[in-house]
Amino acid sequence: PKFVYDFTEGNKDLKDLLGGKGANLAEMTNLGLPVPPGFTITTEACKTYLDSGEEPAALRDEVSAHLDALEAKMGKKLGQADDPLLVSVRSGAKFSMPGMMDTVLNIGLSDKSVQGLAQQAGDDRFAWDSYRRLIQMFGKTVLGVDGDLFEEALEAAKTAKKVAVDTELEAADLKKLVTKFKKIVKTEAGRDFPQDPREQMDLAIKAVFESWNGERAKLYRRQERIPHDLGTAVNVCSMVFGNLGPDSGTGVAFTRDPASGHQGVYGDYLQNAQGEDVVAGIRNTVALAELEQIDKKSYDQLMQIMETLENHYLDLCDIEFTIERGQLWMLQTRVGKRTAGAAFRIATQLVDQGLIDEAEALQRVNGAQLAQLMFPRFDEEAKVEKVGRGIAASPGAAVGKAVFDSYTAVKWSRSGEKVILVRRETNPDDLDGMIAAEGILTSRGGKTSHAAVVARGMGKTCVCGAEELEVDTKRRRMTVPGGHVVEEGDVISIDGSSGKVYLGEVPVVPSPVVEYFEGRMHAGAEDADELVEAVHRIMAFADRKRRLRVRANADNAEDALRARRFGAQGIGLCRTEHMFLGDRRELVERLILADTEAEREESLKELLPLQKQDFVELFEAMDGLPVTVRLLDPPLHEFLPDITELSVRVALAESRQEPHENELRLLQAVHRLHEQNPMLGLRGVRLGLVIPGLFTMQVRAIAEAAAERKAHKGDPRAEIMIPLVGTVQELEIVREEADQVIAEVEAATGARLKLSIGTMIELPRAALTAGQIAEAAEFFSFGTNDLTQTVWGFSRDDVEASFFTAYLEKGIFGVSPFETIDKDGVGSLVAAAAQAGRATRPDLKLGVCGEHGGDPESVHFFHEVGLDYVSCSPFRIPVARLEAGRAAS
Ligand code: PEP
Ligand code: MG
Repeated sequence: PKFVYDFTEGNKDLKDLLGGKGANLAEMTNLGLPVPPGFTITTEACKTYLDSGEEPAALRDEVSAHLDALEAKMGKKLGQADDPLLVSVRSGAKFSMPGMMDTVLNIGLSDKSVQGLAQQAGDDRFAWDSYRRLIQMFGKTVLGVDGDLFEEALEAAKTAKKVAVDTELEAADLKKLVTKFKKIVKTEAGRDFPQDPREQMDLAIKAVFESWNGERAKLYRRQERIPHDLGTAVNVCSMVFGNLGPDSGTGVAFTRDPASGHQGVYGDYLQNAQGEDVVAGIRNTVALAELEQIDKKSYDQLMQIMETLENHYLDLCDIEFTIERGQLWMLQTRVGKRTAGAAFRIATQLVDQGLIDEAEALQRVNGAQLAQLMFPRFDEEAKVEKVGRGIAASPGAAVGKAVFDSYTAVKWSRSGEKVILVRRETNPDDLDGMIAAEGILTSRGGKTSHAAVVARGMGKTCVCGAEELEVDTKRRRMTVPGGHVVEEGDVISIDGSSGKVYLGEVPVVPSPVVEYFEGRMHAGAEDADELVEAVHRIMAFADRKRRLRVRANADNAEDALRARRFGAQGIGLCRTEHMFLGDRRELVERLILADTEAEREESLKELLPLQKQDFVELFEAMDGLPVTVRLLDPPLHEFLPDITELSVRVALAESRQEPHENELRLLQAVHRLHEQNPMLGLRGVRLGLVIPGLFTMQVRAIAEAAAERKAHKGDPRAEIMIPLVGTVQELEIVREEADQVIAEVEAATGARLKLSIGTMIELPRAALTAGQIAEAAEFFSFGTNDLTQTVWGFSRDDVEASFFTAYLEKGIFGVSPFETIDKDGVGSLVAAAAQAGRATRPDLKLGVCGEHGGDPESVHFFHEVGLDYVSCSPFRIPVARLEAGRAAS
């Protein structure tokens, strides 16, 4: 294979091979935009290196050939003594991983060529500053020297000179610093800083390859669910300099506001600065609009380029650029990250501009973003103490205890505290603290600072650049205007949508998007929120496209009504056990412990009207829509007193010689029913088979409720579902009894009830014999919670707390199989059972009601394997509708 591509050879569709940065640099080059020449080493080369520990044999020659071509184009050689070509060596994976991997700038400088650079630039200070930056970056990232040693030496130089910022150091100071830095390298790395420019380049390339497996990068990938085997590409790019004086500078820009989606001039610019200075938030930037005053020609050109890019990518782009002595250079572009709200607005704006169609608009948003928009917000009416305002970098309302370092953030959050990570600025070392925190607050840096970019990526609330706050991380506190001091552990609230910072806990209110779904806010109204308008339209696109129907898991009228407002097309799972708790528990206890048939019938008779009333309410709430009622499922002990507590009671009574016959009888029964593995024990259909009358009582309640609704001109559409079936025989027995009860109710009431009877598929044996089971079932609903539990042999109630963290850390799976369907294992059983079931009964209705029904990735899977509907909790219904629409377009 070819391992190296010139920027003129690639294009934006080669992200797998060239990484995002390389593919887009190539695309811009081919669009005729001013990109400094260079080439990209492929992810394949990186993978070979990481797998074998050696670079592919052909790589060196290919790099040589491309370097020759680059040198010819630039008219100078890498590191040439009198006029050096300098290059940057930058990482660039398929998915952006801001700041997670390595980059080395100014490669090609040496003791000799630094003089040539000084002469060419007519600027000694600039040349020596570039050289000390090279040794520092190279020492740290390539040779593994502790970066603090360089920082300390730099601090010492500033102190010696009695200056505050490094721009005040002069050429002579920097020259001394270079000598000092080289000494540090020699002592710490045991070798001299390489003077051969090609050796510098080759070592930097290897270091970038290796940075793919750095701890930070691995953690970030786990968090963002980026596969670990992609590798990174390496971009070798001729250097341009933004630090050559006031007619130079560097900046970032967005073609639209990444927070609101509005078109306009958004970005930050920093005069006389290089590379990462802007993103790191080290000095404060000016708004991009001010560039018009500073350098009109470059500004106009940049605006032109931004328009070209938007029309080419048909999306919001973000851009990094540098101006070198009045000449504009494009260093990077990509389809930009954006807030959830902006994603919805931009998608509809682009449809209105005629740039994309509805199906494409659905690809521009996702369920996770919609879920984020449904989070509550701070109550604007609440009495609050605002103490500062920063930049609204990533939306949401976060409340927590202030902590000032990542270590504490992680420690406290592990013990269940909600924390806000407060820093002057963040850097990649803060990543695990950011993950642990509810929100992130910084006092420096703009919308493109590390904190902002990473928080947006994670969907975490962030306020950055709140400059009135004096953050003192050493003393673990911050001082707010007016002098009040917030100590570690004090509660603060931050609003990532407005940038406001408050003392104490601010109460939260529902989001406008939820108000809209609830029907309390209307799209199309004059004062309708722009966001609500966009969500409304996108949901309509999704509903038009999707094939999957969406139902709710709900077991009371209130949840059912909410689900209906949220767009549910029925109930896919009513868990009747929830109707047996509270006051009714005692009745159930009596039923279970009944010694005689008369006693048992007595308690069933008392339960019947209660159950019936539950169903009447539910069918009324869901009038005209299907309601799947599942017969009693959980293990019996859930309805009985706790065995330990009861034993204590009996023992106490005994020792006090008090009467305790009832307790004793109860204890004996509890002992008799006690199971080592209740989840694999007497539950589901097994209960129905061993407790006479239980399931028939439930069926009667359903049938009588349906008849009553009919008598009131309602349109009940009940479906009866049998849980935990493993063999068709179980189902046949229950079915026969149920059919008889239904016939009795029909005869007594004169109503035609059309109740269908189906089963859950939630045991491997059921899935494996689905063809037989379909003989006795009119529908299947996949219970992927139990199916995951039994296919993996994972106890669903225990594993997430016990060993899943270790499994996730080791990369055994990227996400819990209880959260996202395990396609290869559990999923393939679902697919096979669906097929076998339909082979027996072509009109078999298929759904899923495990937690996976509301999980975006799983919804796509269920669409692909041909299910008819997914069922999920009411709050996840909009997400499921959206993802079902996306899956179909
Ligand atoms: C399931 O097992 O997936 C299911 C929906 O049933 P429950 O969670 O009630 O066991
Ligand atoms: Mg189940």
